Amino acid sequence: MARYTDAVCRLCRREGVKLFLKGDRCYTDKCAMVRRPYAPGQHGQRRKKVSEFGLQLREKQKARRYYGILETQFATYFDMANRKQGVTGTNLLQILESRLDNVVYRLGLGNSRPEARQLVLHGHFTVNGRKVNIPSYLLKTGDVVAVADSSKASSKFKELAELSASKNIPTFLDYNSEKLEGKVVGECAREEVGIPLEEHLIVELYSK
Ligand code: SF4
Repeated sequence: MARYTDAVCRLCRREGVKLFLKGDRCYTDKCAMVRRPYAPGQHGQRRKKVSEFGLQLREKQKARRYYGILETQFATYFDMANRKQGVTGTNLLQILESRLDNVVYRLGLGNSRPEARQLVLHGHFTVNGRKVNIPSYLLKTGDVVAVADSSKASSKFKELAELSASKNIPTFLDYNSEKLEGKVVGECAREEVGIPLEEHLIVELYSK
């Protein structure tokens, strides 16, 4: 399946929640969830009774779209979470939070997850000193993510450095704003996942 390339605001409207896919615009009145807070399409404003399966499906789609992950890869993450010790839903969120593109975003080095993904793809980041351009790269405790030396002087990263200095960085990351690098110091706590998700519905969906 190809990557989704249509208007991303439709995804927020479909899920009925802001997914913050467009950076600064998401915080203004231009946000489509402010202007048209109902599902897209001809019948978007109709009230529909949603089945139990529908609720579970929507929750899975919401998580997938929030982190920008395709169906097959999401199912792989669920398998990994299921095999890990602990609560499957929390494990799943912790795996998603440990993706390189997500960590870059959480450090404030990307305005949105799609932008962070793009910056990683373009080779602007290193992990433990080596260039990594794979957005799905899963980080472990102790890994250090940094802006590549060759990118630090660019106007984009000067602008992002200012943004990241004022950002609320989650406690599983230790950020050094001068060096433009962050260290993973643990796993993301459930309460620090910034999305209103009922992960137990996703677990129920995959357990059928
Ligand atoms: Fe979603 Fe951002 Fe578009 Fe608003 S502006 S609908 S939060 S992607």
